[in-house]
Amino acid sequence: MFSARHDLASLALLPGRDVVALAAAGFNTIAEVLDHLPKRYEDRRRFDAFPNLPTGDPVCLRGRVIDAAPKFFGSGRSFFEAVVMNEAGGVFGSGKITCRWFNMPFLHKLLAAGLEVSVFGRVKDSNGRLIMDHPEFEILREDDGEDSSIHMDRLVPIYRNIPGIAQRRLRDIMHLMLHQVDPDTLALGYNVEPASSRFESLKAGHFPESLEQAHAARRRFALEEFFALQLNVVWRRLRYGEHAGRVLGRSTTYLKQFYENLPFDLTGAQKRSIKEILADMRTARPMNRLLQGDVGSGKTFVAMATMLLAVGSGCQAALMAPTQILAEQHYLTFRRWLEPLGIRVSLRTGNRDEGDHLETGEDPQIIIGTHALLYDSVTFNDLGLVVIDEQHRFGVAQRAALIRQGVMPDVLVMTATPIPRTLTMTLYGDLDVSLLDEKPPGRGKIITGLRIAPKQTAVTKFVKDQLSQGRQAYLVYPLVEESEQVKTESATEAFQKWSKRLGSYQVGLIHGKLRPEEKEEVMRRFREGEIAVLVATTVIEVGVDVPNASVMIIHHAERFGLAQLHQLRGRIGRGGHKSYCILLTDGKNPEALEKLKVLEGTADGFEIAEADLRLRGPGSVLGTVQSGLSNLRFVDFLADTALLREARSLAEQVLTEDPLLAGDYKDLRKCIQESEAVQDLPTTA
Ligand code: ADP
Ligand code: MG
Repeated sequence: MFSARHDLASLALLPGRDVVALAAAGFNTIAEVLDHLPKRYEDRRRFDAFPNLPTGDPVCLRGRVIDAAPKFFGSGRSFFEAVVMNEAGGVFGSGKITCRWFNMPFLHKLLAAGLEVSVFGRVKDSNGRLIMDHPEFEILREDDGEDSSIHMDRLVPIYRNIPGIAQRRLRDIMHLMLHQVDPDTLALGYNVEPASSRFESLKAGHFPESLEQAHAARRRFALEEFFALQLNVVWRRLRYGEHAGRVLGRSTTYLKQFYENLPFDLTGAQKRSIKEILADMRTARPMNRLLQGDVGSGKTFVAMATMLLAVGSGCQAALMAPTQILAEQHYLTFRRWLEPLGIRVSLRTGNRDEGDHLETGEDPQIIIGTHALLYDSVTFNDLGLVVIDEQHRFGVAQRAALIRQGVMPDVLVMTATPIPRTLTMTLYGDLDVSLLDEKPPGRGKIITGLRIAPKQTAVTKFVKDQLSQGRQAYLVYPLVEESEQVKTESATEAFQKWSKRLGSYQVGLIHGKLRPEEKEEVMRRFREGEIAVLVATTVIEVGVDVPNASVMIIHHAERFGLAQLHQLRGRIGRGGHKSYCILLTDGKNPEALEKLKVLEGTADGFEIAEADLRLRGPGSVLGTVQSGLSNLRFVDFLADTALLREARSLAEQVLTEDPLLAGDYKDLRKCIQESEAVQDLPTTA
């Protein structure tokens, strides 16, 4: 019996070349190898029948190679071809399948006429022949002897490839290890389950007796992954709560004045969130709260109310926005509503330092800025509250750096990324959550239409029509400049064309390569209606708020992500006018069309996020900051909500019963460090 934690090389368990190949792929211990669970199973008790027609799903066939040789296309490109014939006959259908592999000339050493094989892949029709391109295959041996219990007549595991180790060999290795490992050394050590259970699950995962058993094993390991993540966030949450914060928000005088000046009522969701925030601020535990609300749900006013509560207690409050444009806009909004209350607001971005404090010499009460808040010479006098807008745009380090500018300040992070509950709990599990699940009333409807290569004159006419009714429009392009590789019209090019097309209407251009003061000038003119049409790249994606703009035409829409398109669309429908979001595409890519149709079908950010998750997976959905999530191997963020809840309460149980986990403390630390290393989870301390 070997300990699962031992170095493979130190055990005389495997031939040296296997150890080398495993090490090259990052596997060093028995435990690590055993964690490499199969990606699928082949039921070699029942192969599929040879099809007579192309198949939508992959099939698994057993047959004999009757011909195997390199072949050439007319173009001279070569490939390797093997014709596999059905020998079983009868219910297994009759006939042949031709298998082809490209760029794998070495196959001639492996595959020869006479061998019996299993092949797995989709069958398609090519000029009347049934073809499988790049099937996975395995040579079945008749002399398997007792090995046949591993490779044949059962549910056989198929693994993600490890270079240098054939499927068959890998299966042997797994089998060997499961027989040689000491089961107790595989246990997780949190006393959350019997020691033997992990071993049993590994056995079931590698060599299941039924698919149900395999699924149960998968769920168990998904639970384990969630558990590691939740240990991390719960641990952080408990730790954060141990700090003494300050009690803020005793005085609500400013808040009341602010309410009275507002020309509209706050939504129920806004009021509820402010109440939750106020309750947090009034305790000595530092606030650590996430405000989650779809685009246009009115997060800015909640931020403003929160900041007033801090200012009312005599300390400073800072708001960090992800872009210059947004910081400028927030600055204007805040000045507009807060100056009547006599509150000193200042703006600090890379190129600007603005506000009354410059003349009076008094410290600003509210500071709005970009990343510049983190660096520069900004020193806060007494920072009691930090608000971070569009959290997903900032990394962990930036959030932590701003928080360090104060002494355990209260923290409110805001995000418009509508992510499914499972992801929220995973990424922001250390934060309390307030949800803005209601939009302010009186919003015009947004009509979304997908148009495949329409006539330019029709598009122009539509835009002109809307302009003549006094509205404004965004025309969005994916690139600033022309690109050699892709034939995509750039914003700069489009700007010139649109200026001609629209005659007397003013057209503006905005993109990331403009200098900050140029951007600001263009935005000001658009906001004030001087510019009727803004040709833009995605610099306007986040937060821009111009209620009179009711048209958005997105060119080459297939090149944007779903979440991004949803954010872009959030720029319109902010006033009382009926709004139009038109997605233009060439229609050449069916997957892109499927993606774009999601937007036509719903305006609900959560539904869109789920669709995005289904289409692209969690890594891409959350962008680079949290992309470490794609390292998770077993969890299914759409289906495993219940597992996540279970993992959460297990983690809470483990950490509250024994925060230091006495004997297992080392393990716990390792677990947390490991998941932090791969996760880049947002942290607040
Ligand atoms: P987001 O959540 O996308 O940041 P904003 O805070 O920019 O949303 O608000 C979107 C728009 O709705 C702004 O024009 C804002 O003035 C307006 N708004 C916010 N709250 C209300 C409300 N309670 N009633 C009416 N309009 C509101
Ligand atoms: Mg916003």
